[in-house]
Amino acid sequence: MSKIDFEALAQEFKTPLYVYDLDYMKSQYKALKSAFEGEKSLICYAIKANSNLSVIQTFAKEGSGADCVSIGEVKRALKAGIQPYKIIFSGVGKSDEEIKEALNLKILMINVESEAELKRVEAVAKEMKIEARISIRVNPNVDPKTHPYISTGLNENKFGVEIDLAKRMYIYAKNSSNLEPVGIHFHIGSQLTDLSPIKEAAEIVADLVRSLRAIDVDIRFFDVGGGLGVVYDNEKPIDLKEYANAIKSAIRGLDLTIVCEPGRFLVANGGYLLTKVLYEKYNGEKRFVIVDGAMNDLLRPSLYNAYHKIEVLGKENEKNLSKADIVGPICESGDFLAKDVELPPMQSGDLIVVKSAGAYGFSMASNYNTRPRAAEVACEDGECRLVRKRESFEDLIKLEELYLKE
Ligand SMILES: *Cc1c(COP(=O)(O)O)cnc(C)c1O
Repeated sequence: MSKIDFEALAQEFKTPLYVYDLDYMKSQYKALKSAFEGEKSLICYAIKANSNLSVIQTFAKEGSGADCVSIGEVKRALKAGIQPYKIIFSGVGKSDEEIKEALNLKILMINVESEAELKRVEAVAKEMKIEARISIRVNPNVDPKTHPYISTGLNENKFGVEIDLAKRMYIYAKNSSNLEPVGIHFHIGSQLTDLSPIKEAAEIVADLVRSLRAIDVDIRFFDVGGGLGVVYDNEKPIDLKEYANAIKSAIRGLDLTIVCEPGRFLVANGGYLLTKVLYEKYNGEKRFVIVDGAMNDLLRPSLYNAYHKIEVLGKENEKNLSKADIVGPICESGDFLAKDVELPPMQSGDLIVVKSAGAYGFSMASNYNTRPRAAEVACEDGECRLVRKRESFEDLIKLEELYLKE
């Protein structure tokens, strides 16, 4: 574990608490960027993985762009200092208002995911009397071999368009005076640990670029999406050099800027969720450790049955271990942070560190059960700062009004 003093942070800022190691996040960015050395490349951090402004700012300072899936994320990216010409706006459903705002902000490109959306972008751009830079998300129909909820590159998934339709859409866009096709995009899934489906997808999409070039559609950005897997347990992640080489070789001879949109890879293992033990209970033989963090703070275990390593601070060397589920106070049987983990006897106030919580942690948090969302702390160069206050009860009801006024 890193040198961050979790005990002190829990003391000062209370729990549940998210802690981010910005040094780690930066080093992940640098490692990926350098794997693409010698090529034109742009890393667009996928904001949805961790939307905290200070986290985004860390990548902005390194020169990162942003991959956004709502206009709110586009605004977060800009607020944190990412240049508009490095921002991509993706997602299967965008309202006219969002499209208009994105065009007004002069971002790099809108990533279009259907024929109907292409027509909407064209109509909005026409009204504004401008040309909209677009890319099209193609669906290479390869199986990424990951969890079905985070697999996105098959025809049965809602994302992207088939190759043949993509080609027709590019021709349509080229002939429209309000559309400028500049990029091509695919994103086949998340938490990928196998390079072969990415390689296969890159080759299929590169072939499409070749056939588009032949009919004068000038694609400049080759966007390979995100999805790089990380170690939660004992996974073997994709080697960055092999990853970069697979992409380079797929686009050989094509003069393209490689765009890559990692989320999880950059932040997952740079985040920790600190939670305190409330008490233990047994239902018959079954042992539960009840903590103050819950599925509203970290949804991944409940949603994907995801595994997160657990560490009990100060009890690393205890012997008398037995299996327990670590559960939160929420009124759902699916509310757990870990299942069947070997734990020593626990006392009220013991501090548990849930690891690999930097991606899809706080960004998926909710107020279910009227629980204020956790505070967030960020650490860099041995110094830690509060970067988002803990929500209060007043924050939660701020926008509500009683129907009956006295
Ligand atoms: C979610 C998403 C990403 C990031 O995925 P990770 O698995 O976190 O790297 C990148 N691009 C698009 C289009 C996405 O929807």
